[in-house]
Amino acid sequence: MFEGLSDRLSGILSGLTRRGALTEADVTAAMREVRRALLEADVALEVVRGFTDRVREKAVGAVVLKSVTPGQMVVKVVNDELVAMLGAEAEIIDLNAPAPVAILMVGLQGSGKTTTTAKIARRLSSRDKRRVLLASLDTRRPAAMEQLAVLAAQVEVESLPIVAGQSAVQIAKRAMDAARLGGFDVVMLDTAGRTTLDEALMAEAAEVKAATKPHEVLLVADALTGQDAVNTARAFDERLGVTGIVLTRMDGDSRGGAALSMRAVTGKPIKLVGTGEKVDALEEFHPARVANRILG
Ligand code: GDP
Repeated sequence: MFEGLSDRLSGILSGLTRRGALTEADVTAAMREVRRALLEADVALEVVRGFTDRVREKAVGAVVLKSVTPGQMVVKVVNDELVAMLGAEAEIIDLNAPAPVAILMVGLQGSGKTTTTAKIARRLSSRDKRRVLLASLDTRRPAAMEQLAVLAAQVEVESLPIVAGQSAVQIAKRAMDAARLGGFDVVMLDTAGRTTLDEALMAEAAEVKAATKPHEVLLVADALTGQDAVNTARAFDERLGVTGIVLTRMDGDSRGGAALSMRAVTGKPIKLVGTGEKVDALEEFHPARVANRILG
């Protein structure tokens, strides 16, 4: 019935004896293992606490179905809650606004922001038949600007010509003007990243946001981010009003805990996941799959 549903956790909890309904003691013991599984999956501590409290409430008194063991029953309650918390399937990028629709890409340096910008552009262009213009706002790193131009050519969308000496806001405004004149549907603005959260980064992105009124503010975050995931997501969301999250490196060893952490602290949907370095390695987010991965 719950085939494939976290064999490991079911195995650990198989010691729970069969009864009509789960007791408080059963559930307390089970929650220790659930907590361990979540922490191993790199879910942030504060999120683990809230999660286990909610699951405990739901699990106590749950009637154990005939076909499963109490351990499996707990796993089912945990799994259902995880899927519910991870959110809806197939959240799409919202382009429902007058053209050109601006999409602001934000995130820490190295998160995969530039690659993800190109991946999304490719998808919007080839699948959704939108005309997309890409612009890099990373004025301090000429190499990053070049990288976006190269990727744009690779995915066959246009990129804004690079003009030295302009500020991020000036480039963003130039991109919007060029898109208006050129009849583009979408403008994707790849903001500068930093290796750590800093005020200058946020202030610059906020200024760009005010100047371009983006319809989507997408936070690109590395799935391998552990306990820092909550701080990163919270900081970007508080300052920039994130509308969605794109989780990269889901092809790696990550158990996906960052997905739960980020979703829990921001309440914002995970819209897409990156699954490789290639420009076509972008997939829709499937909460049930990620829930399974988190439970291990
Ligand atoms: P940025 O500094 O945030 O713009 O990061 P980049 O886009 O330059 O990406 C940094 C590195 O991560 C590059 O080598 C990318 O190819 C790689 N990368 C980006 N997304 C993914 C992904 O989903 N999976 C894997 N394995 N690598 C990725």
